[in-house]
Amino acid sequence: MPTPLIAGNWKMNGLGADLAEARALAAGLKALPTAPRVALCPPATLVERMVQALGDSPISVGGQDCHPDPAGAHTGDISAEMLVDAGARVVIVGHSERRASYGESDALVAAKALAAQRAGLEPIICVGESRAERDAGRAIDVICDQVGSCIADELAGPFALAYEPIWAIGAGVTPSMDEIAEAHAALRRALLACAGERGRAAPILYGGSVKPDNARQILAAPDVGGALVGGASLKADDFLAIIRAAPPDARVDRV
Ligand code: PEP
Repeated sequence: MPTPLIAGNWKMNGLGADLAEARALAAGLKALPTAPRVALCPPATLVERMVQALGDSPISVGGQDCHPDPAGAHTGDISAEMLVDAGARVVIVGHSERRASYGESDALVAAKALAAQRAGLEPIICVGESRAERDAGRAIDVICDQVGSCIADELAGPFALAYEPIWAIGAGVTPSMDEIAEAHAALRRALLACAGERGRAAPILYGGSVKPDNARQILAAPDVGGALVGGASLKADDFLAIIRAAPPDARVDRV
């Protein structure tokens, strides 16, 4: 079974003072005998400071995006190598908010995942259908097509996939457990078809309104290998409650 991962996405939230939440999370995690892998992806301005604030905590710090190139004339962008230089170990690519705001295509997402690999980061590759696509009965086709287009032949791993139905993000609603199970089973088949053994090793995270009160059920669903958490990752208590909700077989020894 792939090693489960629970990753927090702070989006465009967080100032220096909010590193107190990251410190509190590290302290809470330290007290758990077992836990899944945990990552926190703050805005780029906080990556290096968060790495320092977390000290020897096993929490991985990550970026929320990276440019395909290692350096160059790309005003406002950040490269995977820069994230590594700041101490990051993972990076989110293809989040639906970036696809919507900046028109990111699957091909660009695939290039970003390869850039992450080149620099030594684990990419968390996001896919997900819109409400209209789900209502039209196309959700499974859409997300499996995205997997085929976003995972290049050269992507050797490790990488994670995040299934994030766009209509569930920040909305306070989630798909039914049957819909989550159906999507994750289809994504696993798509991963195996396009990436073989590399696809078997990739955890498939669920993302979209994961909260302390629904995390236990979601994390126990078949082939849910963790979660990508937005709003509820901003407060250490909430995020820790989600981490604690991971089933025993999704945890590794901390000692
Ligand atoms: C996200 O931004 O990836 C996300 C899942 O957000 P939220 O948990 O707030 O729905």
